[in-house]
Amino acid sequence: MKANTLFDNTETAFQLKNDSQLERAYFLFKMISKEPLVRIGTAATKFALNLNLPVEGLIRATVFDHFCGGINEKDCMPVVGHLSDVGVSSVLDYSVEGKEGSEQLDATLNKVLELTEFAETKQAMPFSVFKPTGLGRFELYRKITEKETLTPLEIEEWGSLVERFDKASKAALDTNITLLIDAEETWMQDAADDLCEQMMVKYNKNRAVVYNTLQCYRWDRLDYLKEQHSKAKAAGYKLGFKIVRGAYLEKENERAEEKGYKSPMHKSKEATDECFNSVMHYILENIDDIELFIGTHNEESNYLAMEMMKEMGIAVNDTRVWFGQLYGMSDHITFNLATIEYNVAKYIPFGPVKDVMPYLIRRAEENTSVAGQTSRELSLLKKERKRRKI
Ligand SMILES: Cc1cc2nc3c(=O)[nH]c(=O)nc-3n(C[C@H](O)[C@H](O)[C@H](O)COP(=O)(O)OP(=O)(O)OC[C@H]3O[C@@H](n4cnc5c(N)ncnc54)[C@H](O)[C@@H]3O)c2cc1C
Repeated sequence: MKANTLFDNTETAFQLKNDSQLERAYFLFKMISKEPLVRIGTAATKFALNLNLPVEGLIRATVFDHFCGGINEKDCMPVVGHLSDVGVSSVLDYSVEGKEGSEQLDATLNKVLELTEFAETKQAMPFSVFKPTGLGRFELYRKITEKETLTPLEIEEWGSLVERFDKASKAALDTNITLLIDAEETWMQDAADDLCEQMMVKYNKNRAVVYNTLQCYRWDRLDYLKEQHSKAKAAGYKLGFKIVRGAYLEKENERAEEKGYKSPMHKSKEATDECFNSVMHYILENIDDIELFIGTHNEESNYLAMEMMKEMGIAVNDTRVWFGQLYGMSDHITFNLATIEYNVAKYIPFGPVKDVMPYLIRRAEENTSVAGQTSRELSLLKKERKRRKI
């Protein structure tokens, strides 16, 4: 099959969806492709949840069940099983956001540790994952990133945060799992990057146990990657990176403008795409030193990765290269890649409905602003409805 038609196979793409799930997906993408609807829907949902209005059922039956595996990890198991049957791995992602008390942060760590242990027993789950702000307070990362002085209490708090990172990394090493650490806003990210680097120095001696994330909408990321590579080579440890374009573009540009500093974002989508390609090329060229997880719904990026691997003689199932998409999005990429034996995984978010709302809102907004991909998603769903004569 020609590589650039691989993702057009909708029968493979939607093999795990029955007719009613296909209809729900179609309806959902149609709704979220309309920007005003998303804006009103998002505001109304936040308002209703804050007032404890009984809207959870409606959210569950629509966006939640489409984009999330369930409320807890057990709910996700049928999905993990179905994905595994067709050669797709799962990354269970406890997507609760905005919890900042130390008890809540410890609870998130415990969830990550539980999931790491749980993953050890399941071949279908070779990764665990967390967001830096899942294990520590945003403001603490920000103060360190912006080089503000910490109070004695905050120094202590930072010590606990480092310990949480360390426990999660050690658990990944002990259970032979790979730990993916997400990236967030630039004004807290330096502190998280430095911590990820410390974990890589400590745990990535023989293989990349810990992966940090590079957001390629940032113009400084290729230089950062090269600097990380020199350090790792000099000190003799492996690097692991998930590469993505980045999820906080509007917020980043708005803050930079408001505070009057140069935006850390590339000026155009094209510049971001070019950066993504260069970062991907650099890592694949240095695959003996740096392992790679390509997190994107962009078809061209996926094709390009396949081409680069071929040109560089990297086997399709080389365990140092993974492809990943989010649950509920770009099934045409995930399942078609799996049929030709690339390593591919779905991020499956889960958690109580109210707590995963920030995640769901980001997905809805992203699908609105990225009009190209949404219309592609819709046209594939249409094609499959036609094929099934729905
Ligand atoms: C498995 C996986 C894990 C992820 N983990 C993270 C994570 O840890 N942190 C994170 O931030 N995001 C993460 N994301 C989300 C990701 O960053 C993107 O928001 C999302 O995937 C859309 O980008 P794309 O490459 O799929 O698609 P595309 O449609 O090709 O790209 C859209 C992206 O391009 C960029 N862009 C759009 N317009 C412009 C412009 N005018 N100027 C500059 N850049 C522009 C933005 O980043 C936008 O999100 C993850 C995504 C996946 C699939």
